[in-house]
Order: sequence, then structure tokens, then C-alpha cells
Amino acid sequence: MPTVAEVKKRLRGVEGHVAVAIWCRDDVIGWAKEQRDEVITPEQADEILDEMDRRHDCELGMNWQTIDCYLDDPPWKRCKGCRMPAENCICQRKE
Ligand SMILES: [Zn+2]
Repeated sequence: MPTVAEVKKRLRGVEGHVAVAIWCRDDVIGWAKEQRDEVITPEQADEILDEMDRRHDCELGMNWQTIDCYLDDPPWKRCKGCRMPAENCICQRKE
């Protein structure tokens, strides 16, 4: 997940118009609390933001439903190696 500093670096030297949507911890934490009455940590919000950044569909983009999908299937319950649900891990990675 790019940090703010990394985003600034990416934009260095870029001229003209750009289209950028920024999603941050507060968006994820606020949505979880306000729409689902769920409390997640800043670190869990970061995990969702990381997944959104790495895996979003370029045609669908990122939206509130994207966050809902990750709250329904949280990345912290998946194996960090094969990305399968921990109970279905196929890589036997030791965390
Ligand atoms: Zn695995």
C-alpha cells in the first residue's frame, strides 16, 4: 500500500491533470462502524486498504461495496502466503 510519502513521490514530475481517488483508514473504520456496527483497528483498516490497492478491478474501481467485501472476508483471516482462508491454506506457510 502506498503511503502518503510514496504517493507524493509517484506524482513528482507529473504534469497536467490527473484523476485520483484517495481512500484512507478513517473511511474504512468509519464505514465499518457506521454501516455495520463493527469495530476494526487501524491495522486492520490498513490491511483492507492494501487489498483494495493491490487487487481492485480497474473497471469497477474502489467503492463502499469494495470495503464491504473485505469486511465480509477480512484479509487478516486469510493466509499471508496463498491468500486462502486460513483453514483452507494450501501453502502451509508458517506466519
Ligand atoms: Zn497458505
